[in-house]
Amino acid sequence: MPYNSKVIKKVLSDFENKEKAAVAAAEKRKQELYKILPELGYIDQELSKTQFKLVRDILSSGGDALETAEKIEKTKLGNQELQRMRTEILKSNNYSEDYTKPQYECNVCKDTGYQGDDMCICLRKALSAEGLRYSGLGEMTRNQSFANFNLNYYSKEKDKNEMSAYDNMKIILERCKKFAAKYKTPEFEKAPNKNLFFFGGTGLGKTHLSSAIARELIEKGFDVVYDTAQKIAYAFEKERFSKISDYGEDVTERYLNCDLLIIDDLGTEYGGAMSVATIYNIINSRLVTNRNMIISTNLTLEQINLRYEDSIVSRIIGEFIVLKFAGSDIRYEKK
Ligand SMILES: [Zn+2]
Repeated sequence: MPYNSKVIKKVLSDFENKEKAAVAAAEKRKQELYKILPELGYIDQELSKTQFKLVRDILSSGGDALETAEKIEKTKLGNQELQRMRTEILKSNNYSEDYTKPQYECNVCKDTGYQGDDMCICLRKALSAEGLRYSGLGEMTRNQSFANFNLNYYSKEKDKNEMSAYDNMKIILERCKKFAAKYKTPEFEKAPNKNLFFFGGTGLGKTHLSSAIARELIEKGFDVVYDTAQKIAYAFEKERFSKISDYGEDVTERYLNCDLLIIDDLGTEYGGAMSVATIYNIINSRLVTNRNMIISTNLTLEQINLRYEDSIVSRIIGEFIVLKFAGSDIRYEKK
C-alpha cells in the first residue's frame, strides 16, 4: 500500500531507534551486572565461545563421524550446564532470567517491524497511528469510527415525506461506509462522483463520519489530510511566511497532492475574494487531477450560492455526492 513516504520514513526510523535502544539498554544492564557478579561475566565469556568450540570439535575429530558426534554432544551438555548456572546465579540474586536480554516492545518482530518479508502487525499499527497524526485529525476525532457511530441518537419521527432523521442518517452512513470500503477500487474509479459533500447544521455527525472514513483509508495506507477551510485558505495566503510543517515539507503541496483531502467547515474561512479564490483553486485543481475530497459545511446550499461563485456551486453539484445531514444536534441528545 502506498503509505505516505514521510510517514514510512518517520516510523521506520522510530523502529530502528527502538531496536537499538533495547539492545543498548540490555548491554548496559549486563555490564553493570558483571561488576556485581563477576562469575556471570566468566560464564558469558565461555558461552560466547560455543561456536568456536563446535568448529574445533569437528576439525579435531579428523572426519570420524562418531567421534565428532560425541564431542559435539559433550560441548552441548557443557553449554546447557553453563546456562543452568547462569539462570541460577540470576535467580539467587533476585534478577529475572531475561534481565540481560533486550526488552522489545514487540517480541514477535523484536522491534524490527518485519517477520521475514512481511510487515509485523505492530508496524502496521504504528503506520496507521502516524498516518492519523499526520492527517491533521484532532485527538478527539481520531477515535471516531463507523463502529462507534450511533444511529440511535437520531429521531425516528417521520416528516411530511415519510422520512425520519434516523432513516436519512442510515442512508448517509451506508454511503460513507461504501465510499471507504470501495475507495480507489475499479468500481470506485468508474463512479461519476468520487467526492462527498456534507451539509447541514452543527452536531449532526459530519465530522464524525469524515473522521471514520479518514481512519479507514489511513489504515489501508492512503494519505489523508484533514483541515478546516479556514486553515487551508490561510496556509495558501501566507505562503510567503512559514509554510513548512513539522515534517519539514510544504503544507500547501500536501493539500493539493494527498489522496483524500477533507475540507471541514467550508464557509468559516475569511470571506474575502482571495480566500474564496484559494478554495476554488484547490477544489478545481484536485478535481482536474482526479484527487478526492470530502467537504463539509454548516451552510445551506443557498448560503453557498451567495458566498461563492456559480462555478464552485456547479462543480460541487456536478462532481460530489451531496449528502444532507438533518435532525437535531446529537451532541445534546448524547447528554
Ligand atoms: Zn512487531
